Amino acid sequence: MVIRTGEQYLNSIRNRSKVEIYVMGKEVKDVTTDPFLKPSVMAFKATFDAAWEEDTKDLARAWSQFINEKINRFNHIHNSPEDLAAKVKLLRKLSQKTGACFQRCVGWDALNTLWVITNLMAQKGKTNYKERFVEYLKYVHKNDLALAGAMTDAKGVRTLRPHQQPNKNAYVRIEEITKDGIYVSGAKDNITGVAATEEIVVLPTRAMGPEDKDYAVAFSIPTDTEGIKIIVGRQLNDTRRLEGGEIDALPYFYNHEGLVIFDHVFVPMERVFFMGEYQYTSQLVEIFSAYHRQGYGGCKAGLGDVIIGATRNLAKQVGIEKASHVQEKLTEMIFLTETMYSAGIAASLNAVKLCDNCWWVNPMHANVTKHLVARFPAQISQLAIDLAGGIIGTAPSEWDLKNSKIKEYIAKYLQGVEDYTAEDRLRMVRLLENVSLGVSFQIESIHGAGSPATQRIMFTRLYDLDYVEEIAKRLAGKKTDLKFKPEAEPWRESEAQKLAKGS
Ligand code: SF4
Repeated sequence: MVIRTGEQYLNSIRNRSKVEIYVMGKEVKDVTTDPFLKPSVMAFKATFDAAWEEDTKDLARAWSQFINEKINRFNHIHNSPEDLAAKVKLLRKLSQKTGACFQRCVGWDALNTLWVITNLMAQKGKTNYKERFVEYLKYVHKNDLALAGAMTDAKGVRTLRPHQQPNKNAYVRIEEITKDGIYVSGAKDNITGVAATEEIVVLPTRAMGPEDKDYAVAFSIPTDTEGIKIIVGRQLNDTRRLEGGEIDALPYFYNHEGLVIFDHVFVPMERVFFMGEYQYTSQLVEIFSAYHRQGYGGCKAGLGDVIIGATRNLAKQVGIEKASHVQEKLTEMIFLTETMYSAGIAASLNAVKLCDNCWWVNPMHANVTKHLVARFPAQISQLAIDLAGGIIGTAPSEWDLKNSKIKEYIAKYLQGVEDYTAEDRLRMVRLLENVSLGVSFQIESIHGAGSPATQRIMFTRLYDLDYVEEIAKRLAGKKTDLKFKPEAEPWRESEAQKLAKGS
């Protein structure tokens, strides 16, 4: 059985000797026991556990055409629109189980992106990348590896292209090519879950021109490699995890992001999947971002479920759950959550086939999904805070509840209806505070998979304004050369679709 258990995953990331991982200025040797990183590792582990738990195991397993065995879906190459919909459903389930970002989807999307782009390059006669990548896929599938996807570069001065930057390594670049491999330097920023992974899959972050060809590079590398340094970022309330409590830092799951530095790192040639092909960078970025934007319809809907549940429970604890304004606000939260999910499912079931066995999400629906996610979580949290009351920002700590001198006062004055205790209220308040105001639901929702402006660029580019103007002219009785398209959607083809067609 190539599907690993969560415990097997933990054992594989315990002992590292080469990578340097830093948290708040101190080097961490074992990420599975470090109190700061452990909740993030546990959220990552949930993706392995899902393949064994009764309610998720069918959803979390898929058939690998590369090794002819069942594998964990988090490394699967999508074979159909239904596979893509299964991804969105699995992500919703895992958010319900963790209340956090479980971090494994970026590496999954990077795998699918490289599968599509190496196939498209093979169609143009560049077959070596696909051959290498298939061997890598077999290795990942046989070992059920935990992958990070690393796309966002440090970027330096935003108005300058990679080759124009004063810092030559503002984008990850090829420093040296030998017959055995390449040496790379630079940094990838905001890399989700990276300290909890076994491999990093690196992709270029933007469209590039001929002068940028040293920056047009994609490869994979074991996380535990000489020359890789990870600096873990801070989050709101992060040091609560170091206090040793069990309520204030709820939930026990968190995500982390890190700055990953490549300091003259050697990458063997068999791990290089894209080198100097600047002509394919815009399509690669388009393919990856659409895959990840589709996924947000699942994971953020799952966090919406947690927040709706916590809000309703808090309303019950103070006896207001039947009030019409409470019902109205919960209904609005359901609508916002299900809208994000519906868009993610539409992006999956209206998938686009780019080549044999290459199923890509629908680019219009995927970009709309992420744009909804950039807006709706803030509205959901606002409604949740409104209903929860000011206590979400003022509640005493669990240490007050445990102090024998004051705990009776907390018990007396935090309690609402008698079916619930003060501890019940504090636990639910903390859950709501951590999930609704955390990085996963607020910051990732806006900036993850690209900031809102990038989705607006994409869906205005894909929408055919000239065509709909001709439709309007016809109905207004004006002269027009309109020829109705067979399909209902007034959409243009994406760069990836044009490349797949050979145009
Ligand atoms: Fe997965 Fe969502 Fe986290 Fe992205 S933000 S890694 S899709 S859980």
